Amino acid sequence: MNDDRAECGPLSQRLRELGASLDQYLRFEHPDAMSRYADWHGVLAQTLPEKGVGIEQVVGELGATVIANGSTIPNPGCTSFITTGATSVGVLASLAGSVASPQRIGLTAFNYLEELSLEWLAEMFELPSAMKGLYSSGGSVANLVALGAARQWAFERIGIDPSRDGVQRPCRIYATDASHHTVHRAAAVLGMGRKAVISIAADPQGRMCTEALRQQLQADLHKGEENNRDVLPVAIVANAGTTNAGVIDPLNEIAQLAKEFSIWFHVDGAYGLPGILDPRVRPLYEGLAKADSVIVDPHKWLGAPVGIGATFVRDRSLLNRAFTQEASDYLEGSVTDDNIQHSMDSLGIPYNDFGVELSAPSRGAVVWALIREIGKKGMRERVCRHNAMARRVAELARAHPNLQVVQEPTLSICCFRYISDDDGVECDLNALNKQIHRKLVQQGRSIPSTAVINGMLAIRPCFVGARTCWEHAEQLVEDVIAAGNELVRGERSD
Ligand SMILES: *Cc1c(COP(=O)(O)O)cnc(C)c1O
Repeated sequence: MNDDRAECGPLSQRLRELGASLDQYLRFEHPDAMSRYADWHGVLAQTLPEKGVGIEQVVGELGATVIANGSTIPNPGCTSFITTGATSVGVLASLAGSVASPQRIGLTAFNYLEELSLEWLAEMFELPSAMKGLYSSGGSVANLVALGAARQWAFERIGIDPSRDGVQRPCRIYATDASHHTVHRAAAVLGMGRKAVISIAADPQGRMCTEALRQQLQADLHKGEENNRDVLPVAIVANAGTTNAGVIDPLNEIAQLAKEFSIWFHVDGAYGLPGILDPRVRPLYEGLAKADSVIVDPHKWLGAPVGIGATFVRDRSLLNRAFTQEASDYLEGSVTDDNIQHSMDSLGIPYNDFGVELSAPSRGAVVWALIREIGKKGMRERVCRHNAMARRVAELARAHPNLQVVQEPTLSICCFRYISDDDGVECDLNALNKQIHRKLVQQGRSIPSTAVINGMLAIRPCFVGARTCWEHAEQLVEDVIAAGNELVRGERSD
């Protein structure tokens, strides 16, 4: 008896304790988690506790052992992949939701913000107001949901309900090799198979070659005519910001082809959709408004805590048909449509039938908070700053004899590499830059990732973190030069 001592009462004192540990963490002065692996691993690797230790000790261990050995990703010098730490207001709103809104059902303020913040996102990124949205856990699921709508639309046009009867035709999804691999996985999960994703050639900058797309569409259309059991084009996937290099496909030309061939036009803007806020690159988004579906990850550039992606579709009823669980007596029976007087009288907008999650956290309040805090103007300033920082890195690289720009920035990614001016000595630049990257990671101050562009391994910073500023961009360039010089000199002395 008396073992269920789970604390459910006032939070503020525990929050103060946890807050102190988090503030300490946010100074980014602690050594990397791996340098103390033995210490924390020794403390944490315990067998299943038979008896609990109580909340006070748990909060203490969270602070001393877990938080103190957390991730380096929120560090302002970390520009790896496309990921960053959340800003404070997003963390607070997320916490508020986990206390006061465990589900996105019912007529509550949290649930109202779910729809309102989706509308704000659509407006901020210039999507047509008819486009309705849905939150999910991130770009992976957001792409899955969008392609589920595309699949539904394509099959319904030939009289088949694929969500009820399954995929009865070989499908085609058209995308460049630079597309995120979650597109392939979505095709697999949706029963179309990864092989349904057909690779469309790209130009030297990595943008989809629309002439190649046209030829592929024409070839597939012919097959369809000869034998009506043959391939069914389901979607064209364009990138508004590729993961590798931040490249934007020619959206307007692709939109025109999609219209001409009556194919669903999906835009993956998980990372790059906020780029439309920067007036210098905004023209590249022409044609976005013609998309049938668009995704964006608030947990990338907008600084939300991880776990928030958004899908927008021209017709949300398609999502309902693609992802319905069908009426269930455990849900619908509990609510009423008339004389609504209580927040539990109605489930509210049935998001659980638009995607693949039933239970889900309140993500709308988080996105609402992020936008409410700094407004569209603040978001624009962040995006413009990060895009400008990528250009600054390119400028510094061009000006330095030992650096080379591998891919000119479109958004906030700059791919560049160290080159040796040591003429006469053949040098494997890919190996050298890989070593430079390893060195940077071990030093722990500037942590970019790498990308292979046209066979060249490049150092690849992606600036999306709200904490990341000009000094970090310049520091990174200096750190690459220093690491390269040291390695090349080391090689000579061998
Ligand atoms: C990050 C990314 C994804 C995947 O998003 P997750 O939130 O990591 O699931 C998909 N597409 C693009 C273009 C991305 O940059």
